[in-house]
Amino acid sequence: MLDFSKFKSIKSLINYFHDEETCKQALAEARWGDDVICPRCGKHHCTKRTDGRFRCNECKYNFSCTIGTIFYRSKLPLQVWFIAMYLISSHKKSVSSLQIMRDCEVTQKTAWFMENKIRSLYEQTDAVALSGKVEMDEMYLGGRETNKHKSKRTEGTQGRSTKTKTPIFGMVQRDGKTVAMKVEDTKGATLMPIVSQFVEEGSTTYTDEVNIYCKLTENGYDHLFVNHGKREYVRANDIHTNSIEGFWAHFKRVIFSTYHSVSKDYLQRYIDEQLYRWNTREQDASWRFEDMLKRCLKPCDYADVLSLSSVVNVVEWKRVKAEKYRIYAQRVA
Ligand SMILES: [Zn+2]
Repeated sequence: MLDFSKFKSIKSLINYFHDEETCKQALAEARWGDDVICPRCGKHHCTKRTDGRFRCNECKYNFSCTIGTIFYRSKLPLQVWFIAMYLISSHKKSVSSLQIMRDCEVTQKTAWFMENKIRSLYEQTDAVALSGKVEMDEMYLGGRETNKHKSKRTEGTQGRSTKTKTPIFGMVQRDGKTVAMKVEDTKGATLMPIVSQFVEEGSTTYTDEVNIYCKLTENGYDHLFVNHGKREYVRANDIHTNSIEGFWAHFKRVIFSTYHSVSKDYLQRYIDEQLYRWNTREQDASWRFEDMLKRCLKPCDYADVLSLSSVVNVVEWKRVKAEKYRIYAQRVA
């Protein structure tokens, strides 16, 4: 098996993955080990063909190692994908599509699609359960009105208003995982179902004084809070929300320094990416690269990438695709 711990730097990665065959071999090994499984019938009797593809001896299906992964039907060499994956997962504050464009010698549009496909690998699952000491807090992402031109300012957007800002709700188990998501609003009725989904009953919850958390005790949680309004940040050494504030600080720094601004539609992907980085911050770049190679077994085509942006885009994309097929079919006929 390939020893991923040797990929301590981008130099060692490029040295090893110097040709397409080595990349394909690593991908096949990461997904199947020595025992290749047919993606169509699920049987194990597959042999490698001379052209590098595989053939199932049961159903006679020919397939490549990229089938069912984010690389499927991509015209880019796997080496370019691996470099982009390594860059995105190893940089503490992520990498913009413009940087990927320059580092991988692709167009910005290609870099954007690659980045979004790779970002889709970070998706959170709802299988996470937080317990013990759990901090929760909400933050609001959006430009300050004072920084905008007078004609573009909206009245009454201070504090917790969601007129121009997007609320994000986060929970962190002390010495454990962090979970965060974009929410419609920060009303108790919206947040309580999320809390009961992710936090085990009987856990001790730490929040600030905002009254959206007043029903935590009613729902079976111990509830302790600090009064940020009165400039109280820690009480009795233990009651604070500093762990979740730490994640917010990291998240804001990434958004402002690398991306400058993100669209509301794609925000959850950026949250997922930063959460992955935050939750695996003890690990090094080689571990993350290995983990991502295992995660890339996920079909993701252009429609999937666009699907979060807006329905209109997908409809438009499908129309363009249908039109292309029509022209192709005419030409073949
Ligand atoms: Zn088969």
